[in-house]
Amino acid sequence: MRIILIGPPGAGKGTQCQRLIEYLRVPHLSTGEMLRAAVRAGTPEGIEAEKYMGQGQLVPDPIIVEMVTKRLEYRDCRGGCLLDGFPRTLPQAEILDDLLERHAMSVDGVIELAVPHDELIHRMMARKRADDDPTIFSKRIASFELQTAPLLEYYQSQKKLATIDGLGDAESIFKRVLEAVQRFKNVVNLKGSKRNGSRRPSPPL
Ligand code: ADP
Repeated sequence: MRIILIGPPGAGKGTQCQRLIEYLRVPHLSTGEMLRAAVRAGTPEGIEAEKYMGQGQLVPDPIIVEMVTKRLEYRDCRGGCLLDGFPRTLPQAEILDDLLERHAMSVDGVIELAVPHDELIHRMMARKRADDDPTIFSKRIASFELQTAPLLEYYQSQKKLATIDGLGDAESIFKRVLEAVQRFKNVVNLKGSKRNGSRRPSPPL
């Protein structure tokens, strides 16, 4: 399955992604991780990206799109993947749809991890990461609200969005994540059986 996990900075995406890739046994494609690796390696893309990341701004689409396109073409992504941090803007979502369509693939479901603004600030105070400077962190939240929120409507209109409550312990949140994944599987199976004329159940994903 190809699933996207969307959530503001501090929503706990990392923890849920880790659990979900173990459950689905698909690669974890985190653009934040890819960018941090490029910065550490000092590649030209990393050097360029760092200027934006350090300011709490989004890295320009061409850098991100090239990185993700290459990664999606790896063999291990054929059976599915978990996208984390991408797409983050409407143009990125449209580019992703085009890209997958060219390979006769599509996004199966999108999970939004919803966490109230005040709780994000509270959590940020309790953790330490280089880009967790309070001003920068607030900018990242603002950029999420401004640029990423429209994505939710995009996926809602495709009936692919599952919004889940991101409050509570990691275990309870993961249960909600799995319920969403099950709903996506049911839809995918239904589409598959319609295509097969409902004669045979479609194979498990
Ligand atoms: P978070 O979701 O907590 O902001 P990430 O690790 O996903 O953290 O991303 C860290 C930074 O990397 C972002 O603040 C942004 O600058 C950059 N980034 C990651 N993914 C994208 C993307 N799809 N488009 C543009 N910039 C991105």
